[in-house]
Amino acid sequence: MAWWRRGERKPAIESKLEDTLGPDGPVIRLQHVSKIFQGDEEDTVALDDVTVDIHRGEYVSVSGPSGCGKSTFLSLLALLDTATSGRYWLNGQATDRLKPGDRARVRNLDVGLIFQSFNLIGDMTVYENVEYPLTLRGVSAAERQARVDAALQRVGLSARAKQRPGSLSGGHQQLVAVARAITGRPAILLADEPTGNLDSKSGEALMEMFAELNRGGATVCLATHDPRWLAQARRQIHLFDGRMVDSPTP
Ligand code: ADP
Repeated sequence: MAWWRRGERKPAIESKLEDTLGPDGPVIRLQHVSKIFQGDEEDTVALDDVTVDIHRGEYVSVSGPSGCGKSTFLSLLALLDTATSGRYWLNGQATDRLKPGDRARVRNLDVGLIFQSFNLIGDMTVYENVEYPLTLRGVSAAERQARVDAALQRVGLSARAKQRPGSLSGGHQQLVAVARAITGRPAILLADEPTGNLDSKSGEALMEMFAELNRGGATVCLATHDPRWLAQARRQIHLFDGRMVDSPTP
């Protein structure tokens, strides 16, 4: 006899099926995702019932006024934080049942991150910081060296490979984070205000790099409030008070 009662839904089996999306499904799917930060005085609703699909190879920008939830949105996508409610599928897999170690593994394999708060490791050199994700992924020493050299050259920091991040300017540290993200050739690139610390020439070079990665098939999700870079995205997500809205707010 079936373990569920006749006429009832089969919740375990149905939710099991929903844990995995088909191969043609979106690379990122958020359904009714909310994030609430609990405070002593009051709670903050940083994301409020966000539902969105992002497909493989898309270039999406996330914009909105300061405090609207852009960083929270990207942190959830990057598996650096978890939703208070709702569900998130990354690369076709539901992420809510991943253990912490698995979250790190998925992030390391599939996602390149350029976050202002995603710090470089202070007691490693620039070179070692860029190399680190490749070491975690078991890339051979010869290939690591080729890829790190190429990434540092790309961002113009080859001469600083032996320095520690703390001895570099904010802009250069940002470029080290860029090199670290691109050296892994990520399928998904998540960037939070990546041009924030950069002069306009470096900013333009970085945006050209994103466009190139996207042309090569990477899915790019970029939070920015710079209108020049918003226009580069093929789809724009606007947030206001944690909610997705149809058009930009003044
Ligand atoms: P944005 O990136 O658009 O400036 P954030 O995602 O950083 O917005 O923040 C959205 C809201 O959530 C803001 O009101 C912010 O103060 C709040 N918030 C973000 N992170 C935290 C946190 N760790 N604890 C409490 N509140 C937070």
